[in-house]
Amino acid sequence: MADNRTHIQAGLITGAILSILKDWNRNDLNMDQKFGRAILSASIGAIGGKLPDIFEPADHPNHRQGAHSVAFMGFSYATLQEFKEKYPEWELIIDPLLAGYASHLVLDSKTPMGIPWF
Ligand SMILES: [Zn+2]
Repeated sequence: MADNRTHIQAGLITGAILSILKDWNRNDLNMDQKFGRAILSASIGAIGGKLPDIFEPADHPNHRQGAHSVAFMGFSYATLQEFKEKYPEWELIIDPLLAGYASHLVLDSKTPMGIPWF
């Protein structure tokens, strides 16, 4: 089972990779801006990586309920995509948060207990 530290590290790495993939070929950003965005994205990814266990603390074996479900992830993704269309500047926060959150669910899904669909 992935512990706290592993979830935070996975979220951090996921956020950093996401930022690098999105910004690598952008000509409107200089290297300092790309680096700053990668650090921000990694930090937010780390928060996202911890978020499911903040919603549902891992204090008993069946703690994985709604916030650990595939359905919640899908609903959050869809809702936040709509939010991003209205407020595109929030992309820098929303995308790494979702990526970190997804990294948590992927790690939890690899345990014998798995994660719920709903
Ligand atoms: Zn968890």
